[in-house]
Amino acid sequence: MSTRTRALLPSTTRPHRIVVLGAGYAGVLAANRILTAVSKPGHTSGAVHLTVVNPRPDFVERIRLHQVIAGTARTATRPMSEMLHERATQVTGTAVQIDADARSVHVEQDGTMLPLAYDTLLYAVGSHATTQVPGVREHALPSASAEDAAIARERIAGLPPEARVAVVGGGLTGIELASEIAERRPDLRVVLLSSGEIASGLSDGGRRRLLRELGRLGVDVQSRSRVARVEAGQLVLADQAPISFDACVWAASFAVPDLARRSGLATDAIGRLRVDETLTSLDRPDIVGAGDAVVTPDAVGHHLRMSCAAALPLGGHAADTILARLRGEPATPISVGFGGQCISLGRRRGLVQMVRRDDTPRDLVISGPVGAWTKERICRYTVSTVRAERRRRSIKLGVSGPPRVGPATLGQREMETAR
Ligand SMILES: Cc1cc2nc3c(=O)[nH]c(=O)nc-3n(C[C@H](O)[C@H](O)[C@H](O)COP(=O)(O)OP(=O)(O)OC[C@H]3O[C@@H](n4cnc5c(N)ncnc54)[C@H](O)[C@@H]3O)c2cc1C
Repeated sequence: MSTRTRALLPSTTRPHRIVVLGAGYAGVLAANRILTAVSKPGHTSGAVHLTVVNPRPDFVERIRLHQVIAGTARTATRPMSEMLHERATQVTGTAVQIDADARSVHVEQDGTMLPLAYDTLLYAVGSHATTQVPGVREHALPSASAEDAAIARERIAGLPPEARVAVVGGGLTGIELASEIAERRPDLRVVLLSSGEIASGLSDGGRRRLLRELGRLGVDVQSRSRVARVEAGQLVLADQAPISFDACVWAASFAVPDLARRSGLATDAIGRLRVDETLTSLDRPDIVGAGDAVVTPDAVGHHLRMSCAAALPLGGHAADTILARLRGEPATPISVGFGGQCISLGRRRGLVQMVRRDDTPRDLVISGPVGAWTKERICRYTVSTVRAERRRRSIKLGVSGPPRVGPATLGQREMETAR
């Protein structure tokens, strides 16, 4: 039996303690799958006690935050009781340190530190807005969390007609934000800035249709406009004249919490937990990871971008890895692929770029009202999938991954179109 297998076998004297860090798409789906499996009569994994740690008590549907910002959705939060298995213990707090030698997590809860012992840790702390560009923190409105969205929404709602809103980020999130604001508030002037080509992952035909739709909504698209600095009321560009704004929404890329790096675990340059093909931490067999906060080996994950579309199957696979080990069986490698890139362009129109499993675009694009309908169905599916895992196990999520490839660089494209 390998070290990795042995390390997760249940203790005979007490339940196996699983702690899940992060109650987003990956964390909640994984928690549900594990608890459903071990609640079945006759299961052979031994007793399990599972705790989920999350800074807020509710579930955030991040893929609807642009609607909150624009004012087309009142909220993107749902009670956790609607999403999470009833056997999970919920701790509202933030993990600030993982002591991997002691198998303990330090959780900050209402100003006090709570030590939480684990036998298996699932690392699923997701991502947040990047703020490295000078002036972003002070003068721009981030868009990646529920707290960010509430602030941005209030600011945009208070803008007078003809005010200019600058949305920074030519990836899918920035495009959705700019379109949603422009459709909801046609009285505003919306400019969308992209450091490179807008929506660089789309086919030529897909990009043409996208630009047409943005033009129809009155969004002024400025490609190849790299923001060097944000100042009060203006964006300073690298090699063009500054652009003034009344509100600036930042959607340029995502960063990840530095919890893994701070805790001395193996991470990549931006702080994502490095995991192997089974999603097990490279240096700790009792830590498994999923979602935006982890990086998989190129051989199985060179194509995986930060997205809900990847977080769900990765969360499911992380649960399968943990369950296999609890049964004393070897875990299997991931095989996760994409089927499409789905973009809402306001509430009435959308665009679905069909892609190969490795996320490269095909020639097929669905746009207009059918695109909007498809995107809305997919948003609903994400929630219903997570919830369904509370009752039955192992829903097939997404499509199988592309054939294995040699090393590839996780590059700019992933960072810029991260979603
Ligand atoms: C406006 C917007 C639109 C998007 N649209 C799409 C889309 O259409 N399709 C798509 O595929 N993706 C989309 N995305 C991206 C998608 O939301 C993320 O990729 C996805 O949420 C990642 O899931 P996750 O489970 O890894 O992390 P998350 O959903 O971010 O969940 C992580 C959880 O961990 C918690 N956490 C963080 N730090 C700690 C800590 N120290 N201790 C405990 N808990 C912690 C967080 O608070 C959060 O609840 C969009 C994102 C945004 C912002």
